[in-house]
Amino acid sequence: MNSAATAWRESAILIVDDAPAHLDTLRTTMARQGYRTFVANSGERALGLAKQVHPDLILLDVMMPGMDGLETCRQLKLHPDTEHIPVIFMSARNEAHDVVAGFERGAVDYIGKPLRMAEVCARVRARLPGAAPRTAQPQASEQWEQSRRLRTMIDTMAEGLMIVQGNGQIDYTNPACDSYLGYGAGELAGHSITELLHAPVAADYLQYFSSCAADPARSDSHGTREVAIHHRDGVEREMDLTLTPMQVDGQALFIGQLHDISHRKQQQVALERAALADPLTRIANRRHFDNVVELEWQRAVRSGQPLSLIMLDVDHFKLYNDELGHAAGDSALRAVAAVLAAHAPRATDLAARYGGEEFALLFGETDANAACTMAESIRSAIEALQLPHPRSPSSAWLTASVGVITIIPSQLDLLADSVQAADRAMYAAKDAGRNRIVAVHAGPDSWEAVKLMSRH
Ligand code: GH3
Ligand code: MG
Ligand code: MG
Repeated sequence: MNSAATAWRESAILIVDDAPAHLDTLRTTMARQGYRTFVANSGERALGLAKQVHPDLILLDVMMPGMDGLETCRQLKLHPDTEHIPVIFMSARNEAHDVVAGFERGAVDYIGKPLRMAEVCARVRARLPGAAPRTAQPQASEQWEQSRRLRTMIDTMAEGLMIVQGNGQIDYTNPACDSYLGYGAGELAGHSITELLHAPVAADYLQYFSSCAADPARSDSHGTREVAIHHRDGVEREMDLTLTPMQVDGQALFIGQLHDISHRKQQQVALERAALADPLTRIANRRHFDNVVELEWQRAVRSGQPLSLIMLDVDHFKLYNDELGHAAGDSALRAVAAVLAAHAPRATDLAARYGGEEFALLFGETDANAACTMAESIRSAIEALQLPHPRSPSSAWLTASVGVITIIPSQLDLLADSVQAADRAMYAAKDAGRNRIVAVHAGPDSWEAVKLMSRH
């Protein structure tokens, strides 16, 4: 068994790190790659072991209590038995001068922490004697080619992919996952998946991980779940997350697939908005107006505050269309709608297209005086648009007739009656010559009169 592939598989690595968790992760990863592994948790132990086992490579942590990595390396290089063993430093200190210092001590490579396991494997592979020739063995070459293809696929797929350990620690993220979450390559490795999720969701996943670990044979996919994930920019993104367990060398790992659905969500919101908006004028449609008026009406019944409704109808609009064409009619309606929207800026105001060339406005907590002032301002603003209306018998410009009603509603009053009264007031304005307002104040005395107002 002295083929190139075997030589590669039997390479021995000495892993030196004072953090037991790092040792553990590195050892598992390297063992999974087919290397023999030795571990040491201090520089002193590393020197002893190196002389004893003559490893083919040493992965050496820089920051360690006692003898640090730089000193350990210096001593390795002083001894004829160990001076030729390639050393790769691993450190969170990866400023240029740290890296330079590492190379000056004789290291062959320097890997920044947090470690990205795929990167560690690649760098180790590049250094180990026997690693290159293993492609000479047909089976190994095929395997290598296959894993290269798989890697390319994972790197280019649009779906985010992460590999998570049973304790929630992220081992690996593909580029799509990094860009979904706003991180650079490898930055998420070493973090916990729980940092990305809301606490209850995170707790649920940890529970799932531990139940999979307790009974690996019966563990199956957690299914797809819509979750809010913390992006690095602080804004949450809606994503579909699918977690599936897998067993690798007896260790439970989880594949997380992330699918960004924030676009779908935005579309949904836009659609919901569209269902409330009139497509031509982009202001509220009648359905929305009816819903809001109902709510404001109930609120006014409770608060005893006055509520005003305005109905507005464009004058001689049929003639306008006939003379200038339907497209001009459409753009005139848009211009009128814009005037109305500009007059309804408060949260308790609403301007809507009620149908055809008829519009409705709601002003919560607005008394009769304020409502009349508003109605007159709207009327004059429409006239001031100076949209020529050559065939209008009443004005040179496009104008509108406006009906106003103000009421302090009680339990006994009906909203429909008020809307109808505003509509009748508007027709009274038409009858009185158009381009004017007629207001009704439905106090205790005049309410009967409002109800009796009839359209001619
Ligand atoms: P009045 O002053 O009595 O209100 O007369 P009018 O001509 O405005 O009233 P009428 O109800 O007879 O005509 C309304 C016109 O409004 C007829 C219809 O073609 C036009 N209209 C309704 N909806 C639209 C629309 O979305 N676009 C255009 N261009 N015209 C519309
Ligand atoms: Mg009209
Ligand atoms: Mg009309």
